[in-house]
Amino acid sequence: MAGKSAVVLGAGMVGVCSALHLQKTGYQVTLVDRKAPGMETSYGNAGLINRGSVFPLSLSDITHHLSGALLKNHPNVHVHLSQLPHYWRWLYYLLVRNSQSSYEASVKGLDSLFQYAVAEHRKLLDMSGCRELLLEKGWLRLYREEASFQAVQYQRDYYDRLGIRYDIFDPEGISELEPAITSGFRKGVLIRDTASFEDLSEVINDYVTAFQSSGGQFFQASAQTITREGDNFLIETHGENIRSRIVVLALGPWSGELCEKLGYRFPMAAERGYHQHFQPSDAFQLSRPIHDVEGGYVMSPMKSGLRLTTGIELSARDAPPVSKQLYQASHNARDVFSLGNPVGEVWIGSRPSMPDGLPVIGEAPRHPGLWFAFGHGHAGVGMGAITGRLIAELISGGKPVIDVSPFSPARFK
Ligand SMILES: Cc1cc2nc3c(=O)[nH]c(=O)nc-3n(C[C@H](O)[C@H](O)[C@H](O)COP(=O)(O)OP(=O)(O)OC[C@H]3O[C@@H](n4cnc5c(N)ncnc54)[C@H](O)[C@@H]3O)c2cc1C
Repeated sequence: MAGKSAVVLGAGMVGVCSALHLQKTGYQVTLVDRKAPGMETSYGNAGLINRGSVFPLSLSDITHHLSGALLKNHPNVHVHLSQLPHYWRWLYYLLVRNSQSSYEASVKGLDSLFQYAVAEHRKLLDMSGCRELLLEKGWLRLYREEASFQAVQYQRDYYDRLGIRYDIFDPEGISELEPAITSGFRKGVLIRDTASFEDLSEVINDYVTAFQSSGGQFFQASAQTITREGDNFLIETHGENIRSRIVVLALGPWSGELCEKLGYRFPMAAERGYHQHFQPSDAFQLSRPIHDVEGGYVMSPMKSGLRLTTGIELSARDAPPVSKQLYQASHNARDVFSLGNPVGEVWIGSRPSMPDGLPVIGEAPRHPGLWFAFGHGHAGVGMGAITGRLIAELISGGKPVIDVSPFSPARFK
């Protein structure tokens, strides 16, 4: 294996895990990012490795939320129609693949990744000496109304079918599980097979430290173009250019720009979301992430405080932030929690979303040696480690541990 080298563009969770796995397979790897590792989307999310997150957004979710968003401004989904030119292709694909069989195929694809998601992270955490950053206490979904709980019975039917373990709690059971929650919810569903990270920066920094101690290099540069130059790809940056026969493009929500320069036009949308930390009293602490389904937010216990993350804001990736969704979500949270004062800055990020809910993992159809690993939507932190493993298995010519055909870059014409 000596002499093999590869460049990974993007040091978010997906790129870092791909670099680690390629290194384990015997490659000399250079990891490139225009910022320090893990400072973009992989920094500010809810931190879940969510085994229960096997449902792609369907057209009916969107239309349901669209009328809700327009008429009632529900915090689960905010749709900025003025930014439609930035996501109409994504919406179009959602429309054309609006069938039960496509939905089932996406659930199957997501489930195949999630079966490995926690286990693959455990291996990387052990290797990096930071297993204690993984909280294995599940994810508690809370329902204010019995009707909302009943409306998603179909999700629990899927869980039964897929072998995803969960338990249902009444209000007393919820308070026993989370003593800080004393009222407000009629039903709770604890997805047992979900884990979460308490500090994403620390996890990514520890992964990168492990990568560097084994000889990997981190290079801070902004990639502008990728072109063929003989057997190599030439990556132009504002500084030193980079050459490599093998390149992994893992630029999260920024992947589209470089792909377009190579002639690939993916229907990716930015499902934006916000976070804000709160510093509640010692009497109000959560021991696991919770999702207030009707309230439209997830609350995760992090080392930096309680992190409230919002639902979807369908907009342009780079449009200015809009405070309304976060305001609504924190207002709803205050109905049921004594949150304390907000601390730190409001953060905004973009879930890199494909219309079938599945990531793009595979070789660029017209550029052998160039590999795509992006589009992980709501679940890139959780799916990072298994994606890294698949990328390394594919590049080194091994048999991938799962069928990767659902994630093929060629599926969007
Ligand atoms: C509010 C919210 C909550 C979420 N909650 C969860 C959750 O609980 N669990 C979960 O699994 N996922 C969650 N997600 C989704 C998750 O954050 C993303 O899927 C994941 O972070 C994507 O990782 P990535 O490595 O693909 O992208 P990123 O983390 O964005 O990494 C891409 C990297 O590319 C770099 N880059 C971009 N352009 C260039 C360039 N030209 N040259 C060099 N470098 C460049 C960037 O600096 C960045 O570091 C959430 C997202 C949001 C917004």
